[in-house]
Amino acid sequence: MKRLVIVLCFASGLGICAGWVGAQPPGHGKGHSGNLLMDLRDVLIVGAGPSGLATAIAATKADLSYLILEKGALVNSLLHYPKHMVFFTTPELMEIGGLPFVSPNDKPSRMEALNYYRRAADAYHLDIVFDERVLRIERETIEPAVGPVFAIESRSKLGVRRVSHARTAVVATGAYDVANMMGVPGEDLPHVSHYYTEPHPFYRKNVAIVGGKNSAAEAALDLYRAGARVTIVHRGLAFGDSIKYWVKPDIENRVAEGSIAAKFNTSVVEITPTAVVVDSAAGREEIPADGVFLLTGYRSDPELLRNSRIEMDPATCGPVHDPQTFETNVPGLFVVGAVVAGTQSGRIFIENGRFHGEVAIKGVLAHVRRA
Ligand SMILES: Cc1cc2nc3c(=O)[nH]c(=O)nc-3n(C[C@H](O)[C@H](O)[C@H](O)COP(=O)(O)OP(=O)(O)OC[C@H]3O[C@@H](n4cnc5c(N)ncnc54)[C@H](O)[C@@H]3O)c2cc1C
Repeated sequence: MKRLVIVLCFASGLGICAGWVGAQPPGHGKGHSGNLLMDLRDVLIVGAGPSGLATAIAATKADLSYLILEKGALVNSLLHYPKHMVFFTTPELMEIGGLPFVSPNDKPSRMEALNYYRRAADAYHLDIVFDERVLRIERETIEPAVGPVFAIESRSKLGVRRVSHARTAVVATGAYDVANMMGVPGEDLPHVSHYYTEPHPFYRKNVAIVGGKNSAAEAALDLYRAGARVTIVHRGLAFGDSIKYWVKPDIENRVAEGSIAAKFNTSVVEITPTAVVVDSAAGREEIPADGVFLLTGYRSDPELLRNSRIEMDPATCGPVHDPQTFETNVPGLFVVGAVVAGTQSGRIFIENGRFHGEVAIKGVLAHVRRA
């Protein structure tokens, strides 16, 4: 059981704050004196996506004390993917902690993946605090005898601020929370979204989808099959090559037969409450739209990284880190999973990001042993 303690955080300069204690597995108490160090863990992990969970499993196997702080639900990004989505990856490439992902399908559905990661979290008794957003990770020395530790400032869904302490920290915050903005007027209107979930609300309605990659193609097909009138707007000359091999002929044939309208080599200039205004070689045009999905990709959120004094790579807008160890410029502070890629979110998948944690935990061990 976790207990919430209220302590005075003089060292972190945060005034009165709250922290979690008692969440470590038995036998992990470090025996430090003083309230401030009651919650000191070997590693604090930010984010309960596949990479954060794999990191926690690696920490468990290395007999390290840890805690995961997650701003939403378990595998929160996957939870918010399109409801009927099917992964392009075969199940075994999504496995963590050596636990078999059994599915009757070549490609698992989102529901199967949610179920699998719940089972994995239970199998390893992973210690996770949900609805707790990490705001800042600050390296500080609370007690000279203990050496530098991290103060991790977080805020719960109810607005309660807490500070947890750990010798090291691993940021596994993914790359799904910040959408690539188009910067056109009307992008913030209520019927405009950067995230597609399900088709039913758009039955017999006009929907405009902006984008030419997999998410745009899949959303267009899903909406069309649920009775929406769909127009795809894409600035490229054709659909992207990265579209799933079983989706590409489907979308191309629907466009060829006229079931789904597609405007290539076309740019959005404005979104109004009833239309998307576009420019192409044919001139300016208004496409009627009751709903608009801007499916132009996502990137990692730089705010926590910047607040934690992690240097950012201007080329990728991702965190500067050692690719061999995943350690950042802040000693003892690691980044794993999709967050490392910055704007190049198509570089890291569950398939490869799930192995980052094991590597980072080796670095964590080195810090903890030194302390
Ligand atoms: C539509 C879609 C389909 C995809 N299909 C595939 C596929 O078929 N195969 C594949 O391998 N990959 C696929 N990917 C990519 C894959 O989902 C990601 O690479 C993977 O989820 C990255 O895992 P992660 O743990 O690094 O990040 P995420 O899964 O994004 O997890 C990050 C977690 O951190 C939490 N978090 C963020 N900020 C904070 C904070 N400040 N404090 C606390 N918690 C925080 C988030 O809520 C989230 O739970 C797909 C991606 C998308 C968008």
